Amino acid sequence: MNVVLLGAPGAGKGTQAAKMVEEFGLPHISTGDIFRKAVADGTALGLEAKRYMDSGELVPDEVTIGIVKERLQQPDCARGFILDGFPRTVPQADALGDALASMGRALDAVVLVDVPKSALVERLTARRQCRACGRIYNVLTDRPSVDGKCDGCGGEVYQRDDDTVGTVTNRLDVYERNTAPLVEYYRGRGLLRVVDGDRDPDDVFVDVTSILRGE
Ligand code: AMP
Repeated sequence: MNVVLLGAPGAGKGTQAAKMVEEFGLPHISTGDIFRKAVADGTALGLEAKRYMDSGELVPDEVTIGIVKERLQQPDCARGFILDGFPRTVPQADALGDALASMGRALDAVVLVDVPKSALVERLTARRQCRACGRIYNVLTDRPSVDGKCDGCGGEVYQRDDDTVGTVTNRLDVYERNTAPLVEYYRGRGLLRVVDGDRDPDDVFVDVTSILRGE
């Protein structure tokens, strides 16, 4: 099963992806997580990506596309994958289609997690994440049992540098400009499935599951 999760920052793609990993055992490929790890490791990629991430801009296509192509060649992707946060531009979507075609594969579904813009700013600024395992929390609705400590792995729960009010607005603008056109792009290819993401994550996942099971 080759799946893309599409949706604005804060729509809940990462939360749904984590549930999909558990349910379907597919690898979760989040370009944002890949970049954050590179930043934490202080690699050349991390240094370059950080310049864009801090202001909410997109890392250039040629960098991002190369990383995803390489990742898709890994053996754990042979049975399928969940792409989260990629593609984010039409050239990325074209490159993904070409890369899959050259491997004799294709996407099975693009799931749009749809959340009204008015809800996104609050969700993003309330979001917290575990630095170690990536688990997502929310200070309003889903806090860790011990403040600042991940329930799952004990890692540090922190606020992403780009989840602050200043950067969030630009990220939403960047989404509207560069990524929202992918909704029509995939609708036109008959791949788009839409779930109402403005609900409890477990309810959203019921819909995601039935889409992926072809129900
Ligand atoms: P995310 O965790 O998906 O919200 O991504 C965090 C940041 O990483 C974004 O604001 C971008 O700066 C960068 N990023 C993640 N995925 C991509 C992508 N597909 N294309 C370009 N930049 C990306």
